[in-house]
Amino acid sequence: MGEFDLITRYFRAPASASTSAQHNIEMGIGDDCALLKPSAGMSLAVSTDMLLEGRHFLSTISPQRLGHKALAVNLSDLAAMGAKPLAFTLSLALPHVSPTWCEGFSRGLFLLAENHRCALVGGDTTCGPLCISITILGEVPHGMALKRSGAQEGDDIYVSHPAQGGIGDARLILEALRKKVHLPGDAFEPLLDRMEMPTPRINLGMALRGIATSAIDLSDGLVGDLAHILKASQVGARIEVDAIPRSHILYQQPVEVQRLCTLSGGDDYELIFTSPRSKRAQVLAAAHHCQLAVTAIGRIEEHEEIRLYDARGHFVTNSYTSFEHFQS
Ligand code: ADP
Ligand code: MG
Repeated sequence: MGEFDLITRYFRAPASASTSAQHNIEMGIGDDCALLKPSAGMSLAVSTDMLLEGRHFLSTISPQRLGHKALAVNLSDLAAMGAKPLAFTLSLALPHVSPTWCEGFSRGLFLLAENHRCALVGGDTTCGPLCISITILGEVPHGMALKRSGAQEGDDIYVSHPAQGGIGDARLILEALRKKVHLPGDAFEPLLDRMEMPTPRINLGMALRGIATSAIDLSDGLVGDLAHILKASQVGARIEVDAIPRSHILYQQPVEVQRLCTLSGGDDYELIFTSPRSKRAQVLAAAHHCQLAVTAIGRIEEHEEIRLYDARGHFVTNSYTSFEHFQS
């Protein structure tokens, strides 16, 4: 199968798809460029995320889940800015064309894309080691984007999470697959879902416009991701480590494992954000509206560092680094 057949067969959204009816898309796949019509009063939000086999996903992931995850991590960046999804492009390097792989991948991709009315409008396809790069476009009213730079001294720090779940599940399953921790057999499936099928918190990001002073999505670990907010906002934070929400499976692990997974975790794709105490009721209402939980885990402080405390008020040594590429 040639490059063009492959694109037509697997990556041209069905004409019936709700995404193709989007009024912002003048022209999608098929010409030299896609044509988008930005709405008046909106800023375009643009972000790219690349996924490499072995580095960002395990080779054991199913093609359908990989299609979901590749788009989900990009949507998560829009969520962190409070932006509404518009469209995306897909650049794919494939070692060979496997119809089964392409079918599964495009199914996972389009299921999520249609959920968010986010149209695939172009891309590039080439032969090479498996690599997926998506560029996503969203829109947010001028001046309303949730930036990293707006946190203020005294703001509460919140994380989003499912009502029954928490932060750190993706890291926990990774540690279990590496045989570093032991898990009961029935724990694997729900935790694998958390790692391979993250839910981007688009609705929450949009609901937090005008309420959150800063936000970022949790992709590399809570301490490291929060540090980006603190640096951009030139403030520090006090974090109550025992207040960080955890799934019951993670609660059953030794304290050190719980701390590693919640503080250094990675691949959570929840939102961490700040908001003044006076807006607490609005934060909770926004979360309730999105059928999500949010938990306050600390406070923004003046001095520019992260200080960790346990439930008894004892200082916890911060040895929790987040994932970094090019680490020596
Ligand atoms: P060009 O030569 O201008 O780069 P291509 O021949 O690579 O264009 O692509 C033809 C059309 O197919 C373009 O509209 C391009 O955006 C689209 N396309 C290519 N690869 C993909 C892909 N993986 N997913 C979606 N659209 C794609
Ligand atoms: Mg091309």
